[in-house]
Amino acid sequence: MPERYDVAIAGAGPAGAQCARDLAARDYDVVVLETEAEAEFPRQSNKSTAGTFPSMMSAFGIPDDVVMSYTDNVVLESPNDYYETYQPGAVLEFAEFKRFLVADGRDNGAEYRFDARVSRPVLDDDDVIEGVRYNGDEELYADVVVDATGPAAPIASALDVVDLERENQAIGIEYELEGVELDHPEYGDLRRSMMLRLDHDIAPGGYSWVFATGEDSAKVGLCYIQNDRHEEAGESGQTIDGYLEGWLESDPRFADAERLDGKIHRGSAHIQRPGRMHTDGFIAIGDTVPTIDPLWGEGIHKGMKSARAAAMTIDRCLTDADQPTDAESLALYDQLWHEDVAPRMNSRLLLTELLYLAPNERYDRLMQDLRRTDDDTLAAVNQGDKRAIAKVIHLDDLPLLGKYLRKRMASS
Ligand SMILES: Cc1cc2nc3c(=O)[nH]c(=O)nc-3n(C[C@H](O)[C@H](O)[C@H](O)COP(=O)(O)OP(=O)(O)OC[C@H]3O[C@@H](n4cnc5c(N)ncnc54)[C@H](O)[C@@H]3O)c2cc1C
Repeated sequence: MPERYDVAIAGAGPAGAQCARDLAARDYDVVVLETEAEAEFPRQSNKSTAGTFPSMMSAFGIPDDVVMSYTDNVVLESPNDYYETYQPGAVLEFAEFKRFLVADGRDNGAEYRFDARVSRPVLDDDDVIEGVRYNGDEELYADVVVDATGPAAPIASALDVVDLERENQAIGIEYELEGVELDHPEYGDLRRSMMLRLDHDIAPGGYSWVFATGEDSAKVGLCYIQNDRHEEAGESGQTIDGYLEGWLESDPRFADAERLDGKIHRGSAHIQRPGRMHTDGFIAIGDTVPTIDPLWGEGIHKGMKSARAAAMTIDRCLTDADQPTDAESLALYDQLWHEDVAPRMNSRLLLTELLYLAPNERYDRLMQDLRRTDDDTLAAVNQGDKRAIAKVIHLDDLPLLGKYLRKRMASS
């Protein structure tokens, strides 16, 4: 007899493991298939800086044990200025966080299979998904299949549910360092901060960061989309590793810094408009959608929210006497996604494109603008509030806006 579950989830990242936690807590038979081996988990998928905020920690019951450091402020840096705002946060040890989610899901009754690489959907005679194929020719069946494999998206792509575009792929890399001068006299005090730096000389077409993990230790990295600004400001042939090395060599805060052995994290995510997220018997969550916050790359909380929205949707369908799992019944997921997971996605994407297309001088002025506005403006801008966005956009930004709109029209 083929193995059958209520729900099969591909991928044990924050999204997949959280979805399993929620569904197992409601007593569903749920199995998670994860490609990596359990003994080393997570290895390649240990990719994240894992800066997050108390709203995520409390909403999902995340224990202190997986926190490397708590921070008080968010600092934004431009080439010649900075802006600091009070915003408590937590930098997680991403690997321990992932292992906690797995252990907690298991305690709730979820089954995990490691060393299980999902390759494609198993379809019935009507081409509706009824299970997954993994590790060559192994199969299992489920009422609902969830793709939570991040940008790999083997099932979502095969079902044509998502189309992750290469030109919208952001790539990132980070090192963990010690011996960092976090309170350097020429810069803001980063000792209890998450700092994001807008500077095309360091991260052309993207941004870089320093997240404090101790008095003189930090996660230091950068990311960018290979967009127009990256082409204009970047050095031909330079690699992302090369850009990070270049920053470490040129910034005095890293003069005595040393890399911690083996502590290098890298990965990618797509910054683009979400299209369809479900079909008959199937839902895509987390970075598979893509869910990551376009402005600051916050993907953990968003991914976990999308996991919860999927679990709520599945719970509702399977509670119904007829247990419908067709596309129409699962459409509740898309609705919850747009309402609760990533509202105002279009304005946030517009702001993201403008931000990363803007020249370095504009970043210095952005810091002044932010200082002039009240404390809530940055939070409102971050939520895609059009009035708040208008406060930090100037008349001379219009050519940039025109350039963006032309680009959008050309690609639509
Ligand atoms: C350098 C970097 C820094 C970041 N910093 C932050 C940050 O500070 N804060 C924040 O909130 N977000 C950050 N992010 C983003 C965040 O890490 C992601 O958004 C988040 O991990 C997405 O979770 P996910 O579960 O959707 O996917 P993933 O984390 O990608 O997990 C996917 C899982 O699926 C598994 N898998 C892949 N393919 C298969 C397959 N075929 N079969 C079975 N299993 C498979 C993988 O091994 C992995 O365990 C960062 C990302 C990068 C790359």
